[in-house]
Amino acid sequence: MAERKPVGKTAEADVVVVGGSAAGLFTAALLARGGRSVRVLEAAPELGPAPRTLIVTHQLRPLLGPAAGAATVNEIRRFELFTNGRSAQVALAKPDLIIERTKLIRALAADAQHAGVKIDCSTRFQGVAANARGLRLEVESGGKREEFHAASVVGADGVASRVARSAGWPPLQTVSLLQAIVRLPKDCPPDTVRVWFVPEDTPYFYWLIPESPQRAALGLIAADSAGAMGCLTRFLEKKGMEPLEWQGARIPEYRRWIPVRRRLGRGDVYLVGDAAAQVKVTTVGGLVTGFRGARGVAEAILNGGHSAELRALRRELGAHWLIRRALHDFAQADYCRLVDMLNVSACNALGAISRDEAARLLWQTVRQQPRLVLLGLRGLLLGRGGARPA
Ligand SMILES: Cc1cc2nc3c(=O)[nH]c(=O)nc-3n(C[C@H](O)[C@H](O)[C@H](O)COP(=O)(O)OP(=O)(O)OC[C@H]3O[C@@H](n4cnc5c(N)ncnc54)[C@H](O)[C@@H]3O)c2cc1C
Repeated sequence: MAERKPVGKTAEADVVVVGGSAAGLFTAALLARGGRSVRVLEAAPELGPAPRTLIVTHQLRPLLGPAAGAATVNEIRRFELFTNGRSAQVALAKPDLIIERTKLIRALAADAQHAGVKIDCSTRFQGVAANARGLRLEVESGGKREEFHAASVVGADGVASRVARSAGWPPLQTVSLLQAIVRLPKDCPPDTVRVWFVPEDTPYFYWLIPESPQRAALGLIAADSAGAMGCLTRFLEKKGMEPLEWQGARIPEYRRWIPVRRRLGRGDVYLVGDAAAQVKVTTVGGLVTGFRGARGVAEAILNGGHSAELRALRRELGAHWLIRRALHDFAQADYCRLVDMLNVSACNALGAISRDEAARLLWQTVRQQPRLVLLGLRGLLLGRGGARPA
């Protein structure tokens, strides 16, 4: 860490969490409830980032409790899948939730503060180093240099995590996620998500996610933001939709498990959420998995390093990676075959298992749809690149 301006103010806590967003606020609340003194440092001037429409599985409810209800703006009961003139429908046994990110962050912040967490906004983490007592963090607040001292630091500062770089983790592989808010088409019910597989545009898919009876998010994932904008603009024109707002950012592409803890002198540095690539690489959804990572890291800090949740999360993210590998190089003909194979029993099985239970989904597919497994194996064996280990 470079020594520059004199230190203005110093403060102490058992744990400092860097990043006052989803994963950071949830980690902080769990640690404070476990009896630790916790401070959250957030670079933005206030909590409550730009709006972002997010879809999550019903698994969010048992994880978050009342905060999940406070942030839910719609529920989804059905998925419609399209590819090259073919279609299939999957009815969900338990509805997915549509979450508005600003509401979620405010609810999580209220929860954390209620548990005793102190939150410092306009406070940008600069670096961390070991000192005699544990860890010394250098931050910048209102143009002044300040110091914090803690036994543990949790990096919840997103995909370009400065905590990770400062403690020696390598940078993450990323993809670009872009969505446009549009008027919900008249023929699309507000409880139905539409998914289009168009492999010449993206190895993932396009989605239309209704956030209310009036509005929906239409988006895709691409390698870079220019490619995402080009494809999405053409797709919007083809579907006759006007963009009302844009939402987008780079997100981590999970390629392998990232060990979440590093020892620095006498202190520990941990990573959670996007900072640790805790994102399902099948759909690039990172909210539920980031909360599970937060629960795991809180468990590890409170239990002297042990966490069953982190082991389970590793298995889950690994199962998503396997599915993505199988699908990543699918051509149009493969998607046509896939949608044709989705008969009533396959759709029922898909609707009964959530996207946050990929390992269970794989087992069910092996038992009930061996032809789907063969198609996936073909994808695995013939794939050319994509989400493979670097
Ligand atoms: C457009 C879009 C749509 C998405 N849709 C979905 C979806 O439908 N479902 C889903 O599950 N996931 C979705 N995701 C992914 C999901 O939003 C992320 O995985 C999740 O929000 C990550 O949360 P996080 O707390 O780990 O990181 P972030 O939300 O990135 O938070 C990092 C925080 O750290 C702060 N920070 C950064 N650097 C510093 C610093 N040096 N000092 C102090 N603070 C700092 C930032 O200001 C920020 O508040 C979407 C992502 C995008 C971009």
